[in-house]
Amino acid sequence: MRLKDILNAPINLIAPPTCQICGNRVEDGPICEDCTLELARLKLPICCYRPLIENIELIFAVYRFDSVAADVVHLFKYSGNMAMGKFMAKMMAKEIDGHDFDIITDVPLFVSRRRERGFSQTELLTRWISELAGIPERKLLRRNRYTPPQARLKDHSMRIENVRDAFELIVPAYEVDGRKILLIDDVTTSGATLNEAARPLVDAGAELVSALVFAVAG
Ligand SMILES: [Zn+2]
Repeated sequence: MRLKDILNAPINLIAPPTCQICGNRVEDGPICEDCTLELARLKLPICCYRPLIENIELIFAVYRFDSVAADVVHLFKYSGNMAMGKFMAKMMAKEIDGHDFDIITDVPLFVSRRRERGFSQTELLTRWISELAGIPERKLLRRNRYTPPQARLKDHSMRIENVRDAFELIVPAYEVDGRKILLIDDVTTSGATLNEAARPLVDAGAELVSALVFAVAG
């Protein structure tokens, strides 16, 4: 037995593996059968849709942001549960199977938010999806100011104002020019944040910008 196995072994001896959502026993994976069924119910009927925003071609989305899907996101984002993050990345990568992109990149957090959380959920998702989908990842954007969470703003025009010009390009424009780019975020509400994140990419000559999210809220 290697040291790593010895260190890991007692966890399995003390407690049988449990679903990280509901606490039921689970044979394999972070989520039990009941929770998997609930996720199936939350699955969106289409893999992608054309949003009513000018800079994004298609939004690929897996689930409605509700019930188990919301728990999965919260466990990853606020409790740092990496198994949930990897589960999200796996489901998201499946959604873009057969679609062609040159670069995937994250919708960045503002620097102080990232420091506070200790990690960026969108950066990690981007890295894992890049590995699963075999699409190179590249950091292209920076969030240049703090923006309050979109979900807290009820009005669509307030959401648009909240994120207006909040993102800027951090690479030379020629690295984006003519490329098909996929933006990664965990959840979208109105698409306003995705639209603003896409703006500097479109301005730099991207051939198209689409987005991939785990869930759609609202
Ligand atoms: Zn469960």
